[in-house]
Amino acid sequence: MEKTCDVIIIGAGPAGAQAAYNFAKNGFETIILEKQSLNREKICGGGIFVQEIVEFGPLPDQVIERSIRTLRFNSPHYSRNVHLPDNMPAGVIVKRGLYDCYLQEQAAKAGARFCELASVIDINYRKNAVEVQVSTKEKTSTIKARLLIDASGWSSLVAKKSNRAMNPTDYIAAYKCWLEMSQASTNEHYGDSIEFFFNSEIIPDGYIWIFPKRDILDVGIGCLASNVQQKKINLKTALSTFIQNHPLLKKAALTHSQGGWIPCRIHPSLVYDRTLLVGDAGGISSPLHGGGIYYARYSGKWAAHYGSQYLLTNQKEHLADYESKMISELYEKDFKWDERMRPFLGDNELVDLLVNSRHKNVDRFFVDLFTGTVPHKKVYKLIIETMQEIIATENPIIQKDDKRTYIPVPSHLTIDAFHGIKPKRILLAISYCLKSNLCPAGKFSDKCIQCKLCPVSELIDLAQQHSLTHYIVTTSGSFMNYLDHNHTGFDRLLAISCSTVANKIALLVNRKYRLEGYTIILGGDVCTTEKDYSHSENGSKHSQTCLDMPIMTELLSDIAHVTAK
Ligand SMILES: Cc1cc2nc3c(=O)[nH]c(=O)nc-3n(C[C@H](O)[C@H](O)[C@H](O)COP(=O)(O)OP(=O)(O)OC[C@H]3O[C@@H](n4cnc5c(N)ncnc54)[C@H](O)[C@@H]3O)c2cc1C
Repeated sequence: MEKTCDVIIIGAGPAGAQAAYNFAKNGFETIILEKQSLNREKICGGGIFVQEIVEFGPLPDQVIERSIRTLRFNSPHYSRNVHLPDNMPAGVIVKRGLYDCYLQEQAAKAGARFCELASVIDINYRKNAVEVQVSTKEKTSTIKARLLIDASGWSSLVAKKSNRAMNPTDYIAAYKCWLEMSQASTNEHYGDSIEFFFNSEIIPDGYIWIFPKRDILDVGIGCLASNVQQKKINLKTALSTFIQNHPLLKKAALTHSQGGWIPCRIHPSLVYDRTLLVGDAGGISSPLHGGGIYYARYSGKWAAHYGSQYLLTNQKEHLADYESKMISELYEKDFKWDERMRPFLGDNELVDLLVNSRHKNVDRFFVDLFTGTVPHKKVYKLIIETMQEIIATENPIIQKDDKRTYIPVPSHLTIDAFHGIKPKRILLAISYCLKSNLCPAGKFSDKCIQCKLCPVSELIDLAQQHSLTHYIVTTSGSFMNYLDHNHTGFDRLLAISCSTVANKIALLVNRKYRLEGYTIILGGDVCTTEKDYSHSENGSKHSQTCLDMPIMTELLSDIAHVTAK
């Protein structure tokens, strides 16, 4: 028999349950179809951001496995405990079975109807309705609704139907296990803390976590699926080696282990006919750390908000409003910046510097990033500024050199940094590596310095005009190679690049070659075309971090002027 309702939701995870709660609260007849049992234990670390507690309210005691006030960060050589400020609620570790059931209960109390062991096997769009085919143990039936919410997680049916398959750079691959530990022992060793390990030799551009529950340690590892593919990483083996080398973990009994996927690139379109994609189904998770529970609830809430307006008015613009909200609030404020922060946690030297630093902003950076309480756009700005100061003041080699200078854009135009001293030789490094995707010839490599198609060749011409002949356009890796072969006593390094890369270059070069004299870092994006501007740090021509051609021209002639004195 055919049933009808206002809204069908596929999937009873946090995205589906939250959407169900809000639709039901708004008075709409809401059916949630879940293919597994409702209390299934989803593959997940169960770490709940502070922001979720702030926004959606506290969780009941029976759902809380452990309250977290301390974040312990480990780099290859250092360790750092970061405490949440007293005025901030604690983060929470949960078991997903219990936690998801709690959210489902709230939605059921509001009037939503849950059907478990009911798998959606097909979706058909009709003129005024959407029909889903549902398969249960007993039968296959059809349910009709005016609106469909796809909250079916990483394997989203609608994403598949609309050919929105994602590639391996859009997924985090993760593997995790549970290790048994008595509550007393867990309390003694972990108390109110969770732990993260960053070490690119174990897991490039990813991390290992230890999230203690009451009497279980949830230990997992994850990084981009493309990394796993390209670098042939076996996550299960990497995790097992980590555990075997850990003095405490190696003694704990393994109860189970499993791998999973986290889609971490928001879909270009979150609306498909009369369907909204929420949570993992829409690729709505952090590309930096893979946390998606909060974003699942957030997107579920707003899907219900705009979906309810659509149901009341029948105007499809409201569905488009949902997508705009997700792009402007989540992509523009968080996810776009997450990708840019990867180098800080993915580079062993940078993460060592960060974790070992006494800089006052470092704790704030970690708190802001891992509690989700501050837009990541702001967190990114903080880490860029902080890292530049750390490199300038805490790098032991730079520290020895009193004359070191860091010049942020745009004050570099004065070139006071030279303090009237004529350098022997200058090495001008223009890093273009983050823009390989923009190569007009479509074949970027670290050997393509001379390619005239590249907008950077304009800069090179300029450098030559000013007799600044020692220049290199490079990724930081090939820069090192270049120096290995050509290091004949440069005493000035001028690195012009995206600030993250410039920092790294300066750090590596100073460490390795102990260059004497000044290191000048111009933190900014080299922007020579309209396309570059849109990819620059602030995505705007007016961004202070854009080094455009007029600025570059002025800069290079200033340098030439000073060096010619
Ligand atoms: C190893 C790992 C560790 C993680 N750790 C964390 C963490 O600590 N903190 C954090 O914030 N995030 C974490 N995440 C991410 C987090 O689990 C997801 O982002 C989150 O669960 C997304 O919620 P969702 O409701 O969108 O999807 P899900 O929780 O995946 O729920 C989707 C539901 O849809 C159901 N379903 C699928 N297809 C159908 C169908 N055809 N018919 C009916 N039902 C269907 C599924 O059975 C499932 O119950 C982790 C992920 C992994 C893989």
